[in-house]
Amino acid sequence: MRLVVFGPQGAGKGTQSQKISEKFGVPSIATGDIFRWAISSGSDLGGKVKSFVESGRMVPDDLTIEVIRHRLSEDDCEAGFLLDGFPRNLHQADALDAILAEQGLKLDGALALEVPQEVSERRILGRRMCSQCGRNYHIDTPPADGWTCDACGGKVVRRQDDEDDDKVRERLRLYYEQTEPLKQRYAEGGILREVDGVGTTHEVFARITAVL
Ligand code: AMP
Repeated sequence: MRLVVFGPQGAGKGTQSQKISEKFGVPSIATGDIFRWAISSGSDLGGKVKSFVESGRMVPDDLTIEVIRHRLSEDDCEAGFLLDGFPRNLHQADALDAILAEQGLKLDGALALEVPQEVSERRILGRRMCSQCGRNYHIDTPPADGWTCDACGGKVVRRQDDEDDDKVRERLRLYYEQTEPLKQRYAEGGILREVDGVGTTHEVFARITAVL
């Protein structure tokens, strides 16, 4: 399975991608997670992307595409993968097709999670994330033990780029301007699957497995 998952911030991409990854046994690759880990580990990549990620701006395409090219060449992607947060625009989508074509491969599916803008805003403003493993939580569904991650025991915090309402709105604006048009491209290619992202995690996941 070679799948891209997209939808506005707060649509539940991270949560659903983790579940799809577990069920279908393919790695879930989130560019946002790769960048946040690079920043917290103080790597060269982290130094290059820090100002973009922390201000809610897009990391330059060339750098992002190289990160994905490298990640997709790793052994665990041989049987497939799921991309969460990439591609974010038409240029990245072209680059992904080209990377796959070099290996005689192509995407099997593009899953679009649909949620109204006010729902995604509300979800992002209540969103919390494990600073160690990246697992997502919400203030309405916190970890079992205070703000300690159920999965790894890491500290669950608010993402820096979620703290400011204006930054959140700017990221949503960029989504509708640059990423939403990808739906048409994947619809024309016959691989778009749109899923209603409003409901419980369980309900949305059931809809996803029905279309995959
Ligand atoms: P996310 O966790 O997907 O919301 O991504 C967090 C941040 O990482 C974004 O606001 C961007 O700064 C950066 N980022 C993630 N994916 C991409 C991408 N495909 N292209 C450019 N920047 C990205």
